[in-house]
Amino acid sequence: TKWDTKGDLDESKNLPIYQHKATLQQAVKDNSFLVVTGETGSGKTTQLPQYLHQAGLWGNGKIGITQPRRVAAITVAQRVSQEMHCSLGREVGYQVRFDDCTTQDTVVKYMTDGCLLREILADPVLSQYSVVILDEAHERSLNTDILLGLLKQTLSSPDKASKGRSVPLKVVVMSATLETDKLSVFLGGCPVFTIPGRTFPVTSKFSCAIGPKDTESSVYVKEVVKVALDVHTSEMAGDILVFLTGQSEIEKACDMLYEKAESIDYRYDVQDRKVEGLLILPLYGSMPTDQQKQIFQPPPPGIRKCVVATNIAATSLTINGIKYIVDSGPVSPCLSASEALQRAGRAGRTSAGKCFRIYSQEFWEKCMPKYTVPEIQRTSLTTVILTLKCLGVHDVIRFPYLDRPEERFIIEALKQLYQCDAIDRRGKVTRLGELMVQFPLPPGLTRALLQAASLGCEDLLLPVAAMLSVENIFIRPGHPEKQKEADKKHRQLGVQAGSCNDFTMLLSVFEKCKASDAPSAWCKDNYIHWRALKSAFSVETQLREILLRQQNVSLDFPMEKFDGNKSELFRRCLCTGYFTNVARRSVGKVFCTMDGHGSMVHIHPSSTLFDQEAQLDWVIFHDLLVTSRIYIRTVCPIRYDWVKDLLPKLHEVDVYELSSVARE
Ligand code: ADP
Ligand code: MG
Repeated sequence: TKWDTKGDLDESKNLPIYQHKATLQQAVKDNSFLVVTGETGSGKTTQLPQYLHQAGLWGNGKIGITQPRRVAAITVAQRVSQEMHCSLGREVGYQVRFDDCTTQDTVVKYMTDGCLLREILADPVLSQYSVVILDEAHERSLNTDILLGLLKQTLSSPDKASKGRSVPLKVVVMSATLETDKLSVFLGGCPVFTIPGRTFPVTSKFSCAIGPKDTESSVYVKEVVKVALDVHTSEMAGDILVFLTGQSEIEKACDMLYEKAESIDYRYDVQDRKVEGLLILPLYGSMPTDQQKQIFQPPPPGIRKCVVATNIAATSLTINGIKYIVDSGPVSPCLSASEALQRAGRAGRTSAGKCFRIYSQEFWEKCMPKYTVPEIQRTSLTTVILTLKCLGVHDVIRFPYLDRPEERFIIEALKQLYQCDAIDRRGKVTRLGELMVQFPLPPGLTRALLQAASLGCEDLLLPVAAMLSVENIFIRPGHPEKQKEADKKHRQLGVQAGSCNDFTMLLSVFEKCKASDAPSAWCKDNYIHWRALKSAFSVETQLREILLRQQNVSLDFPMEKFDGNKSELFRRCLCTGYFTNVARRSVGKVFCTMDGHGSMVHIHPSSTLFDQEAQLDWVIFHDLLVTSRIYIRTVCPIRYDWVKDLLPKLHEVDVYELSSVARE
C-alpha cells in the first residue's frame, strides 16, 4: 500500500548522506575525479548512484558501481532496485563473474571490480558509462587498485580520454574513512567530500582466551560461541554480530549456537526480560540470496538476532540494530587494527554498543599490523600483469600503482606468463595470451584447458575448470564417524572414473550428478554441496561459451601424436598448465617441489591419494595450503616423460631480459 512505500522512502531520507544530496550531485558534475568518504552505513553505496541517476548524470550511458565482493554487488543491487521500485535487472542490475543480471534498460549497474576490469579490456575508455564509482577503495582489492591506475592514466591524457566518447567520463572513488588523502593525491589532488557521520561510543573488552598461536579454528570457534551466548544471556536487548573467517567455521559456529541456545531456560537465565529467543543467521560469500535477505530484516519481537559473518559485514554490508560485536580476530591473511576498529564500529551505529574481542590487548597492541596490506602486495600478479599487457600497458613496472608491488613479484608474474606461453621472451603478449586473458581462471588452468581444446578433448577439462572455480564442493561433516563415511563416498566416486586422482574425481562428480535424475538427492547422498555443484554447471556452460567464441583454437604447440588412453590424455593436458606445480616424492610421505624452491610438501588429507603416497612418484597439484606444514591439494600422479620437456622452462627464463623488457 501507499504507506509501505512511504515508510521505505523515509528510511533513506534518514541516512546521513541525504542532507548532502544536492552538493554531491553538483560535485560530480564539476569534477572528473571525486573522492567520497563517510562512516559505513551512511548511505554511500545505496544512495549516491540513485542521486546521480536523479540528476540525469547517466546521460545516455550507465552508472557503474564496483564492489570488491560479489555478494555485496548482488545484495546492494537488490536493495536499490526495491528503493527505485523496479524489478532487478531492469533499471538497476548487477553483474558478477558468471552471473549477469542486466538488460538493455539497466542504467544503474552494480558489479564486481573484476567485471569492470574485463570491460576495460574490450573498451578502454568505457564508452558505455557516464559515471564509474569505485566503491570500498579502502579494502585495497587488487582489481580496484588496478582500475584506479588505469582510470588515472586514461583520464590524465586528454586525447585518450575523449577518444570514442561524447561526454567525458566521471570517476567517483568511495572509501570508508581511511587513506582518503592518499587517494586524493594519487588522483591529482581531486576534492574529497566527507559525509559527516553520527556514531555512538563502543566500549571494548579484550579477553586472554585466545593467544596469537591459537590459529586452530576449532579453538576460536568454540570461544566465540561461548562469548556470544554470554552476551545473549546477560546483556540488554540488541542484536549480535559475530566475526569469523570462512564458510565452514561459520556453519560450525551456527550449529553450536543453535544447539546451546535451545537449552537456555529463559525464565531464569536472561536478565533482560525482553529477550526470549535467539535467531541465528549465517552470512558469507556463497550464500543463496534469499537467505541473505533475512539478515537485514528486524527479528520478531522478543527475539535477539545473532548474525555470524565473514569480514563482509565490516564495511560492505550494514546490518541495522547491531549492538554487540564478537570479534574472533582471525581473517585471511591477517586482521589489521584498522579492520578491527571497523568491526567494532558496527555496534555503534544507532546507539552505544559493546565489542568483545577474544584476543588480548597485548596481542592487539603488539602483533596486529596497523593497516591492511593491500592485496596487490601479497598476491600473485599473473592475471593482472597479463591484463595490463593486453591493454597495451607494456611498462608494467612504471604503471601508476597506488602502492607499488615489489619489483620481484612483477618479475615473478612475467616469468609465470612466459612459462605458460602467454607472453614471449620480449614480454609481448602471444596469440595464446590474448585467448587466455578472456578466461576468468588462473593462467595454468586456462593453459591446460586451451591445450585440451586444441586436441578436441575440452569436455574433460571444462568441468574440472568449473569445479575448481566454485567453493567447497565436498562436505566434510564434523562428526568423526560421518566424516569417515563422507571420505569413503568421495573416494569411491573418484575410483569409478577409471583412474583415481583428485582431478578425475572432480570430473566424475560433475558428470554423475549431471546424469542423475534427482541431482539434489544424489548430492545429499554423496556428501556434496548441491548449490556449489549447481553453480559449477553454470560456470561450465559459460566457459564453454568463451571457448566457442574463440573457435578454431589451434595452438602452435604440437604434442607428439597421441595414442594413449583417455586418462593419459587428460593428465597430459593438465601437465601443460601445471608443470610449474610438479612435485616428486623424496622419502616416506614427503614430496619435493620442482619449481626451484624445492619445498617439502605433503598431500592434504582431503585428497583421494592421501595415505597412498608410497605408490606415487611424480605428481602435479592445483594449489598449496600452508598451515603448520605445507600441503598440496587437488593432486594427480603423472609420469616424468610428460613433463620432461617442459621442466627446463622453469629455469631457462632470463629474468634480466624479462625485467628489462618490462621497463621498455
Ligand atoms: P555505506 O555504503 O555508506 O556503508 P549503505 O548505502 O550500504 O551505506 O547503507 C545504507 C543503509 O541501507 C544502511 O542502513 C543499511 O542497513 C541499508 N541497507 C543496505 N543494503 C540493504 C539491504 N539489502 N536490505 C536492507 N537494508 C539495506
Ligand atoms: Mg558501502
